[in-house]
Amino acid sequence: MKKYLILLLSLFVLGCTNKNNNKEQITIYTKRHYDVDKDLFKKFEEDYNITVNVVQASADELIERIKTEGDNCPADLLITVDAGKLYKAANEKLLEKINISEINTSINQNLIDKNGYWVPITYRSRVIAYNPEKVDIKDLSTYEDLKDSKWKNRILVRSSSNAYNQALLSSLIAHNGKNATLDWANKISDNFARNPKGNDRDQIRAIYANVGDIAIVNSYYIGLLKSSDDEYDKEIGNAIKVFFPNQGENERGAHVNISGIGLLKNSPNKENALKLIKFLTSEYAQNYYTNNSFEYPVNLNVKPSNIVAEWGEFKIDNLDLNELGIKRKQAIEIFEKSKWD
Ligand code: FE
Repeated sequence: MKKYLILLLSLFVLGCTNKNNNKEQITIYTKRHYDVDKDLFKKFEEDYNITVNVVQASADELIERIKTEGDNCPADLLITVDAGKLYKAANEKLLEKINISEINTSINQNLIDKNGYWVPITYRSRVIAYNPEKVDIKDLSTYEDLKDSKWKNRILVRSSSNAYNQALLSSLIAHNGKNATLDWANKISDNFARNPKGNDRDQIRAIYANVGDIAIVNSYYIGLLKSSDDEYDKEIGNAIKVFFPNQGENERGAHVNISGIGLLKNSPNKENALKLIKFLTSEYAQNYYTNNSFEYPVNLNVKPSNIVAEWGEFKIDNLDLNELGIKRKQAIEIFEKSKWD
């Protein structure tokens, strides 16, 4: 309720600031809360002379809000950090198809929505961060292997209510089936170094504090620690290494998810909204993302930042990313049944 009030208030404030101004505008409902987004929206405002209004909340809250507002919804675009949530919005008939060939022909085809409802803006892998002083890299292999008792009391990961973990579990269900995935969730829980708590960055910090030896985290958090202004976080970022699971010849590759954008069916400013999608996938914006948030660029003409490139190239699990939404309900049910808090 409190969050909803904040949303209402933020929109009211935005409404007031734009009242006396006939400038073109667009409204974005976004889950992302990073400074890099603010910078890019500002650059877009300057280059295109279009005012960008931003409402930030969780993807589920934003989707509910879009449904409640219906025809009166002021939003043009929905940005999430999870293909599963964009699938959900498309499935609820909130999104309009986007002709990607008119937007950008350089986007990695493996990461686009085959149904045409959303466009990726960055991608990230859920990797294993590890302490090289405690872990022999030869012991690391696959997500599946993390259920092995050799990892007893060594694994750090956040709670099962987190969307990144739910997306990873959805991918495991898609590849290994429900029963094997429940077994995995239970056995990996037996190997946890502590009860899940904190965010991804906290898991990496806990490796450095010797609470555990390995952590399941999104790749860019290691880059963010490495480039942090905080000296201690920087030290942690430099000490911890990145391992991409499931890289063997017959293996499927490391789990990835996208941050992506969908055009809302009731968008009042469609043309301007499409201009923003074009801008966010442009070489300029893609370079800005990878150099500041350490995510991977989806534009094939853009190279990952030096920090990201240092982790090496890796094989991506090419599962249709909509599966991360299709399997989500099952993933939540399995987590609820499992020992993973
Ligand atoms: Fe994140």
